[in-house]
Amino acid sequence: MATITLSNVSKDYGGGPVLRGIDLEIREGEFVALMGPSGCGKSTLLRLIAGLEEPGGGQIHIDGRLVNDVAPKDRDLAMVFQSYALYPHMTVRENMSFALKQRRLPPAEIKAAVEAAAVKLGLTNLLERKPKALSGGQRQRVAMGRAIVRNPKAFLFDEPLSNLDARLREQMRYEIRKLHRELGATSVYVTHDQVEAMTMADRIVALNDGTIQQVGSPQDLYDNPANLFVAGFLGSPPMNFLDATLAPDGALVVEGQTLARVSPPAGPPPTGVASGAVILGLRPERVALAASGEGVPARVDVVEPTGTGRVIHLGLGAQRLKLFIMDTRPLAVGETVGLIVPPGAPLLFDPATGTRVG
Ligand code: ADP
Ligand code: MG
Repeated sequence: MATITLSNVSKDYGGGPVLRGIDLEIREGEFVALMGPSGCGKSTLLRLIAGLEEPGGGQIHIDGRLVNDVAPKDRDLAMVFQSYALYPHMTVRENMSFALKQRRLPPAEIKAAVEAAAVKLGLTNLLERKPKALSGGQRQRVAMGRAIVRNPKAFLFDEPLSNLDARLREQMRYEIRKLHRELGATSVYVTHDQVEAMTMADRIVALNDGTIQQVGSPQDLYDNPANLFVAGFLGSPPMNFLDATLAPDGALVVEGQTLARVSPPAGPPPTGVASGAVILGLRPERVALAASGEGVPARVDVVEPTGTGRVIHLGLGAQRLKLFIMDTRPLAVGETVGLIVPPGAPLLFDPATGTRVG
């Protein structure tokens, strides 16, 4: 198990900065997700940790040892990719044995390590098969098995589940988590999928455009996003963002109507909140529908049943928002409903910078 520390790490392939000022401390045994949209620098960051790329600046420490100049094979990390990169002419057993044979471990030791990993991964009956005779999920398991047998200090995953169908992805999410619990090895998991990050990680590192936006537990990022990027990235349906005006008395006015209030009138205003134009962020599940005749009127545009509830698309003047509701009241397209925004639900963002201000 290892700690991984990045200090002011940057990277530029020649076409402008890809990573800037990355400071990150990954704790021993932790499962950290590097989450962000395609092209934001996730794989580059992982490859810097692995030693497959050299940083342009900054320092990388593994277990307190500076590794900037340490070759990948001497960092004692195992990588698992989306493309499984199995050797097609080798059986599962041979694929899983390969790295240990290169290290010239005794055959009996290799056999024991491979078979123990196979048990953990449910591969015992597939050890003599070749990759082409395996399903995608099984190949992914072999790729993990190959990493496990090396007993590395840490696992580095780069979107390992992207090639799998939705059901299998869900199952593998669970299996990777379970394996992490059993092995307790530090894991860094790159994903663009907010569901994977939310469900798997102890902590999420939200990346955008080569910089860290926020680091925290999944629930913390969900409840207390630092900016519009993090707020909009986590959650499905995503957070609503409404153009609003914050009046001096704490009223949040949207399309001429007071949709919500912030800060008790007697108390001081929340840090950074000034009256004026704001972006009002509202989670779809945090807004309630009022009994008839109450609340702020909005027009029902679309009703989408999801099985567990319904997503209601609403028009509020010229703006649109989505609600997620679990009740079964009849709702007709074109009907007017009343919205109630409970205290604590509104998040406020600076329209100029996207920074959270309340
Ligand atoms: P992600 O994994 O988040 O999708 P990457 O780390 O792969 O993003 O890429 C980040 C940026 O760096 C992209 O703009 C990509 O085009 C660029 N990039 C990645 N690898 C290279 C490379 N070997 N040479 C030049 N540019 C690269
Ligand atoms: Mg990538």
